[in-house]
Amino acid sequence: MEWYYENDDRKVGPVSEQEIEDLARSGRIIAETKVWNDVTSKWIPYGQINSEIPGDVAYDNEEPHAANESVCIECRRSFLIDEMIEYEGVKVCSACKPVFFQKVKEGGHHGAMVYGGFWIRFAAKFIDGIILGAISMIFSTAAGFSAFNAQNAVSPLQGVVFFLQIAIPIVYATFFIGKYAATPGKMICGLKIVTADGDRVSYGKAVGRHFSEFISSIILSIGYIMAAFDDEKRTLHDRICNTRVIKK
Ligand SMILES: [Zn+2]
Repeated sequence: MEWYYENDDRKVGPVSEQEIEDLARSGRIIAETKVWNDVTSKWIPYGQINSEIPGDVAYDNEEPHAANESVCIECRRSFLIDEMIEYEGVKVCSACKPVFFQKVKEGGHHGAMVYGGFWIRFAAKFIDGIILGAISMIFSTAAGFSAFNAQNAVSPLQGVVFFLQIAIPIVYATFFIGKYAATPGKMICGLKIVTADGDRVSYGKAVGRHFSEFISSIILSIGYIMAAFDDEKRTLHDRICNTRVIKK
């Protein structure tokens, strides 16, 4: 069983059940500490799983009361198994069914995020670079021909092209991230950009992230390299915008 636990608003893991128990024994994990495992598929206070653990709040250990009852993964209340729906080994009560399947559909049900590492992100960036380079080359070539035809050293079109060279990457990042949560490069690499809570990134945040990325690149790309050493694989621009890049 894979476990994750929350530490200062950070999600740490995967760790083994043994490690969770050791952390609980040493007091690093208390009853209020939110934990996740692939059986509950839900962030719940550790006290709900292990009632013996000391904490400020006493949680009811919501074990089924009878053999024909089970606990709903959403609302954590006990129901008759006959009245529940089973999905991939977890049970949901009929009242929570719509919410539960909405989460499954959005892919958000498996609460723990798997972060995209440095090299896969590098590959995605490389692909985006090729695409943007190709678009840029088309415009430059068009402008070059127009300058040649006009017999001018600087064609007015070149001013337009200069503007486009700056605008295209902004539009590219904002449109794709705002609409699809990933640039084409990230899509190909099976990555998507989400907020710290795993939600969608807004168009506004996508623009902000693009400009933050500029900071990551002007400091000798150290902002990008930071992802290789971060436990949540965050680049500098992820830190600035509080975003995460995760595997789909
Ligand atoms: Zn329920």
